[in-house]
Amino acid sequence: MKCPVCKSSELSTTQLEANLTSHQCPTCHGNWIAGAEYWDWVEEHKSDLAERVFDSETLSLAEPGLPIDCPECRFRMVKYLVGRGLGFSLDHCHGCKGIWLDGNEWEALKKRNLHDDLNLMFTSFWQNEAQRLERKKKMEQIYVGRFGEEDYTEIKRIRFWLDSKTNREELIAYLIDKAPFDV
Ligand SMILES: [Zn+2]
Ligand SMILES: [Zn+2]
Repeated sequence: MKCPVCKSSELSTTQLEANLTSHQCPTCHGNWIAGAEYWDWVEEHKSDLAERVFDSETLSLAEPGLPIDCPECRFRMVKYLVGRGLGFSLDHCHGCKGIWLDGNEWEALKKRNLHDDLNLMFTSFWQNEAQRLERKKKMEQIYVGRFGEEDYTEIKRIRFWLDSKTNREELIAYLIDKAPFDV
């Protein structure tokens, strides 16, 4: 079986975790996990690990990435956003249910305890939420670009404060009014 990214490199069998075999590319270090292999491991693994979140992490936008074909059955694979602040997507084959992870992606998922949640990532519920976060991040980037980091933080703070008030409209009217209130 050849690497779907490097095309020419031959994948070799590796022990990704205890009882989880993957086919790894010696060149790009991507991992191919057969569908049944993964589901068996999740079943056996049982313990649904709580997600770990690191405050210091900066949220990055998901990279679109090139479409790849399943190394097993040649189907065009479908990309699924990982979300939760991780800026990459996984490739999933709808034909054989296999999963492709680029180099370091398994490690990144494991660090967050998300490596046992791939079955959830392939649901529309997870994808909708991940897409909503992506859109939010994109808007934030636009606003930071327009106002600058410092002013954007201040605007957010004021918005939050306004939203907590029952006389929000009145406060906004005062804020934008040009009449000389200050005596
Ligand atoms: Zn490769
Ligand atoms: Zn396939």
